[in-house]
Amino acid sequence: MEINKEFDQAEHRMIDGVPSALSISDFNLWYDNGGFQALKHINLEIPEKRATAFIGPSGCGKSTLLRTFNRMCDFVGGVKVEGLIKFRGEDIFKMDANALRVHVGMVFQHPNPFPMSIRDNILYGPNRMRKLTKEEGDDICEQTLTEAALWDEVKDTLDKSGLGLSGGQQQRLCIARALATNPDVLLMDEPTSALDPISTLVVEDLMKKLSQNHTVVVVTHNMQQATRVADKTAFFYLGELIEAGPTKELFSNPKEKRTVEYLTGRFS
Ligand code: ADP
Repeated sequence: MEINKEFDQAEHRMIDGVPSALSISDFNLWYDNGGFQALKHINLEIPEKRATAFIGPSGCGKSTLLRTFNRMCDFVGGVKVEGLIKFRGEDIFKMDANALRVHVGMVFQHPNPFPMSIRDNILYGPNRMRKLTKEEGDDICEQTLTEAALWDEVKDTLDKSGLGLSGGQQQRLCIARALATNPDVLLMDEPTSALDPISTLVVEDLMKKLSQNHTVVVVTHNMQQATRVADKTAFFYLGELIEAGPTKELFSNPKEKRTVEYLTGRFS
């Protein structure tokens, strides 16, 4: 399930000196066999090893675009796409979807550990890629749980069920599980909306740290969260990308009227 990590330099766009992990060009998506257009002419660069936030009111297509990045839209019947999305220069729709998902991992809104031990949760993905020795498995557990800031809390209980952890710990376990295949990109769909305020801050801190070594894309309804964690923010409205840019700039000096209206709470 390896994909060619070499990429075409000419196709690998640079924005402000930072290469793009994902390049989206004139991308459209319809649900219901073309009956409803959820994404309209999206053009966007997702910078590598940075955190990018998608903000906007409910139902404006943020999750749809996020889920398209690892081809989860393949599981929805009646979806039609048009346009181009490139991952490190390769057309994602021409790639093997399982190979793509090894490199583009996902963390969901509600923590969803598998009903198995903490260790087996972490090793679920790596074991599907190849047979691991006990030492390799131990190393992956320690490394990913450390990266997800959970190691110290669970290192003596790795054989206990992941379902026995608190909500915030379960979400960090899911982040560690997503990290276990060593993905380049980590997609996070409102990862803190089911968490208490303290766990939210822990996961936000984690997102910032993870973005030093991974490309993080997070959908959030919480504008403060975008300002705290994201280097770049994209504002969506009714399936369109209205405006995208460095987070500080977008929040302090939005260029589009609809962005101003959303940021000032005139609609939510
Ligand atoms: P957001 O993440 O911004 O809340 P979504 O991407 O979830 O928005 O949804 C965008 C639009 O697409 C909404 O109108 C939603 O009802 C519709 N939609 C989402 N998933 C499906 C689906 N599986 N089938 C049909 N319509 C869908």
